[in-house]
Amino acid sequence: AARDPKDLRSPICCILGHVDTGKTKILDNIRRTNVQDGEAGGITQQIGATYIPASAVETRTEELRKGRQFDLKLPGLLVIDTPGHESFSNLRSRGSGLCDIAILVIDLMHGLEQQTIESINLLKMRKTPFIIAMNKVDRLYKWQTVANSPIQDAMARQEEYVRKEFEDRYNQVALQLNEQGLNVALYWKNRDPRSFISIVPTSAITGEGIPDLLQLVVKLTQSLMAERLMFVNNLESTVLEVKQIEGLGTTIDVVLVNGMLREGDTIVVCGLGGPIVTTIRALLTPQPMREIRVKGQYVHHKELRAAMGVKIAAHNLESAVAGTQLYVVGPDDDVEDLKDAVMEDMQDIFSSVDKTGEGVCVQASTLGSLEALLEFLRSDAVQIAVSSINIGPINKKDIMRANAMIERGHRKFGVILAFDVPVTREAASLAEQMGVRIFTADIIYHLFDQFTAYLKTVKE
Ligand code: GDP
Ligand code: MG
Repeated sequence: AARDPKDLRSPICCILGHVDTGKTKILDNIRRTNVQDGEAGGITQQIGATYIPASAVETRTEELRKGRQFDLKLPGLLVIDTPGHESFSNLRSRGSGLCDIAILVIDLMHGLEQQTIESINLLKMRKTPFIIAMNKVDRLYKWQTVANSPIQDAMARQEEYVRKEFEDRYNQVALQLNEQGLNVALYWKNRDPRSFISIVPTSAITGEGIPDLLQLVVKLTQSLMAERLMFVNNLESTVLEVKQIEGLGTTIDVVLVNGMLREGDTIVVCGLGGPIVTTIRALLTPQPMREIRVKGQYVHHKELRAAMGVKIAAHNLESAVAGTQLYVVGPDDDVEDLKDAVMEDMQDIFSSVDKTGEGVCVQASTLGSLEALLEFLRSDAVQIAVSSINIGPINKKDIMRANAMIERGHRKFGVILAFDVPVTREAASLAEQMGVRIFTADIIYHLFDQFTAYLKTVKE
């Protein structure tokens, strides 16, 4: 397809980090400030994402640029809203990340936490470039608010002892990051953004450092990955979530990374029981004004161009698997090829299953989280064999599979490791009867800890 260096798509930016570090608040801050300026600045709420147009970035970084021009080449940024491993690990394309850049949020007062480390490992695994927002600077003792100002201006206004506390805390966190194998630097001191990860001190509440954060994301993406961001007509699109919507039935929330989608397009998506071929009945985005948004009301589109967060309504989406590719059947495409292609993601997963048929059962909410869990279980430090896998809630038949391990004399494998999935009541009581243990957690490490503790209590 033709590529034009002036026709760039918006980069996809994910926000990751431990719970309560301020991921949602950072986005809120970016949206709110623009709304307070009297207009929304073109920032739009999309499905699972927020679109920040270049003009909004320009306005927000005016003070930071001190009259200098911002050579903006991007149309804007598409920030993925539903933060957490879930959405990040679902943003994939044949094993590699679809997320162009990530913001890892760390609470300056807490330093590295469990999910911070998991996020770092995910970012490393997917080779996703990222920057760090060291958030909650306003919690430094006697911090003087300089609302929404560039961070260095705000720092210059603080008392000496406030700056000293910042430095101490910053150094502590930097050391923790070094221990994770990351070289870091405050972004304005970073001469080598390819080897050092830039840190931006921010407050999501009072807005200091937010202009810096926006500017840095835009600068890094347009300078380091212009090639990757050139708009192409080839469709690149991933299913983020599968959702039941009143009046629409089962819908899929999709990130359109590149190319276009049209109403009436024939699409192919991965289903748990095999490929799904269906027709786009509706292409939907939320009503523009969030305040007056009525539940269930969407704007219909004839066609949409990347990058976008979109909801698709179509028949037969019930068993669609989040975290897989979506393809449109073009005039020159063979549907059979596309059916094979969508199932490829699942094939990789099935290859993690132990050939001897002995091991624990593993179950997760989406392909992305299942993959992250399998990757963890395979790692050198862990090495737990897996006999079967499934996606979605734990049902009776899942318990039966785990029980088969016990019947074959492997009590220690009569276990289901469940990541972020509910257990139906019938399944729970059947497990109890059969002596199948279900370990549930929404942090991967916790599953490992529980299983390891359990191993100590069982004798073969
Ligand atoms: P998330 O779980 O990472 O999305 O965190 P939230 O954005 O929901 O924020 C968690 C809590 O921290 C909320 O009570 C926020 O008000 C608070 N918080 C977030 N950012 C800041 C910040 O920059 N300064 C202060 N003081 N509190 C913050
Ligand atoms: Mg949040």
